Amino acid sequence: MKNNLPNGVMLNAYPDSIDSDMAGIVRMLQRPELADVFSLFYVLPTVFNSDLDRGFSVIDYDLNDELVKTADLDALSDLGIELKFDLVLNHLSVGSPQFQDMLANGADSEFADFFIDWNAFWEGEGELHEDGYVVPSPEHLDQLFMRKPGLPILKVGFPDGTDRFYWNTFYQQVDVVDGERTYLGQMDLNAKSDKVWEFYRETLRKVAAQGAKVLRLDAFAYLHKEIGQTNFFNVPGTWDYLNRLRVIAEEFGLILLPEIHSEYGTGLHEELSDQNYPVYDFFLPGLVIDAIDNGTNGPLLRWIAEIIERDIKTVNMLGCHDGIPVIDLKGGGDEVEGLVSDATIEAIIERLMERGGRVKNLYGPDGTKISYYQVNATFFSALGESEARLRLARAIQLFMPGTPQIWYLDLFAGANNYEAADKGGTGGHKEINRTNLTAADIQAGLQRSVVLDQLQMMRLRNTSAAFDGDLTVLSTESSELGLRWSNGSVHATLHADLAAGTFSITHDDDGTEMVLSFG
Ligand code: BGC
Repeated sequence: MKNNLPNGVMLNAYPDSIDSDMAGIVRMLQRPELADVFSLFYVLPTVFNSDLDRGFSVIDYDLNDELVKTADLDALSDLGIELKFDLVLNHLSVGSPQFQDMLANGADSEFADFFIDWNAFWEGEGELHEDGYVVPSPEHLDQLFMRKPGLPILKVGFPDGTDRFYWNTFYQQVDVVDGERTYLGQMDLNAKSDKVWEFYRETLRKVAAQGAKVLRLDAFAYLHKEIGQTNFFNVPGTWDYLNRLRVIAEEFGLILLPEIHSEYGTGLHEELSDQNYPVYDFFLPGLVIDAIDNGTNGPLLRWIAEIIERDIKTVNMLGCHDGIPVIDLKGGGDEVEGLVSDATIEAIIERLMERGGRVKNLYGPDGTKISYYQVNATFFSALGESEARLRLARAIQLFMPGTPQIWYLDLFAGANNYEAADKGGTGGHKEINRTNLTAADIQAGLQRSVVLDQLQMMRLRNTSAAFDGDLTVLSTESSELGLRWSNGSVHATLHADLAAGTFSITHDDDGTEMVLSFG
């Protein structure tokens, strides 16, 4: 039995993305233009108290009442909208009560082993640097998967005057004013500690009580840490952790959606699906750009065939709060061909950069860049800011197997925000694609045909029984795409001319036909 996700259309936004708070989102969703468009809402984790990385540095899992009121969650429930939240399981903020307790009480703290003391972890496995931290020996260091230049550590001052180094895979912010050092950071949790598992249990109980139905496991592949491994999806440790979490999730009626970016060639998406986890379809954004820019259906059809054949349950998207994941399309050595060739990946990246995108890199142990990670851009800008292409991209997404997740800014055809990206400090590259919208922006947006047309297609996807049936890939020229969903006497058919950028959607409900034509 697959871990089935609800099959409606899912909105994705920060709680303050629309008119400053969740009440603003509720007001938007209550408008007649939005009726019956969404069944789910993935609220990015600013819903909790947090202090960095726009919500992903969680202080505690209580609702941040400046942004979200219980009444807002009730209003969403009245609209028939179910909730997806995050469990940011790899880390907690420096400002969390657990980290603060550890700082205050040191070895006497009940949270003394809740976080990872870097030097204790690598003891005897490296050299002490003159600045006081251990540099793991080259055979370990070469294996480590790095998210940023330099070692993933943050220097932490204890009240007894000592400094210690704690594992910090993601963001940190250190300020020194008049010799006084202050810092924030997303501090990796030590999943070897039972206390951490007690904390997960309590958190799952809490989010289920807040109304969550689906729980995204943020950056879960970094959680398992072991000397001598890459410390990114270590096996079998990562599977043990996932399965242990799933037992708890089932108790609270939560569906777990593990978030992982990895190259197609590693086959991790297949393994997750084989273990009955739903899978994030991070291939679709790049495949859609390729299909539309090159007027070709090949790579997309290959991926659709695999989803159907292996019965992979996906959540898919065009844009999201992170960048556009292009290297995910890569193959694996000589054995597994990528979904597109490396040359095509390079060409996509180049095009996205020409269209104003910014890149996020990955780094080697010596701090040098080893590859691009993601391209940050709005999906509309990534498509060359063509409304016709955005409509077509949306239609393709909605006809893909899986639960379609819609980034609010894509719905409103938002363009790259260079000013915000230039100003943004930590994580600034993401600012290009997370412009908050005001009530006036929503009002103006709802006069635009590119917005209304997407809403019409999304409403169809959200309400037609056809999409609970089976998908047939129609046989077409390679420059076209034909997808038909059928459920008894209800059929929804997309026919697209990828090369010309035109398409039509036909909906036939037991003889009652509706046709939408674009371009
Ligand atoms: C999230 C990012 C976040 C990171 C650390 C990711 O996978 O999607 O936005 O910065 O986890 O929490």
